[in-house]
Amino acid sequence: MKGYRKMDLDVEKAAEFLELPSSRLSEIIEKGNLKQNWDEYNRIYRFEGHAPQLEDGSVLIDNSGSFELIRGFPKIKRAMLLEPALKNNFSDLTSVAVEEKMNGYNIRVVDYKGELIAFTRSGHVCPYSTERVRNFLDRDFFEEHPDIVVYGEMTGPENPYVQKHVYGIESLDLFVFDMRYKDTGKALEIHRRRKLAEKYGFNQVNLLGEFNIKEAPVRITNIIRELGKIGHEGVVIKDPKMVLQPIKYTCSESNRSDLQQAFKFYNEAGRDYLYSRVIREGFQSHEWEENEEDFRKRCLLLGESILRPMKETIAKVQSGERISDDFIIRVRNKSVIYKFRSYLERFGLHVVLGKIEKKGNEYTAEFRKINKSTNDKTLAMLEGQLWS
Ligand code: ATP
Ligand code: MG
Repeated sequence: MKGYRKMDLDVEKAAEFLELPSSRLSEIIEKGNLKQNWDEYNRIYRFEGHAPQLEDGSVLIDNSGSFELIRGFPKIKRAMLLEPALKNNFSDLTSVAVEEKMNGYNIRVVDYKGELIAFTRSGHVCPYSTERVRNFLDRDFFEEHPDIVVYGEMTGPENPYVQKHVYGIESLDLFVFDMRYKDTGKALEIHRRRKLAEKYGFNQVNLLGEFNIKEAPVRITNIIRELGKIGHEGVVIKDPKMVLQPIKYTCSESNRSDLQQAFKFYNEAGRDYLYSRVIREGFQSHEWEENEEDFRKRCLLLGESILRPMKETIAKVQSGERISDDFIIRVRNKSVIYKFRSYLERFGLHVVLGKIEKKGNEYTAEFRKINKSTNDKTLAMLEGQLWS
């Protein structure tokens, strides 16, 4: 691939640091499961696929002989039915903390050679996120806590991945939701993390309450109904001490909005992604003991979130237009726009850079991701070809 150099890593030393036999690390490298970054970040490596005991997207930083490990953010399992899931997973706790689940994309921030950098979930250094976090986060925190990684959700409309207008954010903002120690990946307790975030002026996810475990299912259900009404995503339920694994639970409105977006690009969307969102609706309807009227309403809304965007796509393609995923980014330094374009192109995405405008001391840039597969498939159907 363009820009990749031969691996510069000292495998012996890195293996020792990771407490792996060096033959094991060599094997990981040979399988292509440890990838070297490019350009100014070429001493940063990321784990892809399943490396032993390491979350996907974990990152190894080579500071000329000494190493740092920045663990990937662990997967959060989902409750399908709130009450049994809480009982089954949190029975040892007296209370749980409920934080809002913000709908954006996951990043991790560390200090690297005197400047902040942001990794995406997969462990890539994202140029847009990196530029933005330098405006969002006070670097003093990282100087004073060099052993801590900050995790947060990049949320708002000027967003390359998930554009959400429901939060009243004008452009983009970072909501901190976790802090973990480098190397071990151990998470800070919720109250300690929230205090630290506050002290340094970090924006953070809302803490919606700490509930006694017995009343938690009812309280969370009420929260979910309210969040749904305003188009927010849902909650993450956490052990206040952050020893047990958190659990996520989302609103029906959010499931539907995911489906709506995904079915617009119906030939690109992963089957699991679509299917799992339908299944969630079945379980929620059951747990909420919906009457026939509410159930029919749910059926209709679910069906619409699937069929309407798809039908619109077909009509658009027939009329000669092409569907695309459009978004805007906002930066201070204009060169980040071009850097971000090449970053997306590295992933094989077909992007078109549109208008660039000056907005105060910043620039906005329009991007268009062309969804070739859905366009081609729709055209083929319109020309009378057969599905398979
Ligand atoms: P996962 O592998 O964690 O299931 P996913 O891509 O399927 O990942 P989501 O369904 O969006 O992710 O749920 C998990 C994600 O929610 C986290 O990775 C994080 O980016 C995001 N998130 C938003 N708010 C919070 C919060 N308060 N606490 C924890 N995670 C949060
Ligand atoms: Mg998400």
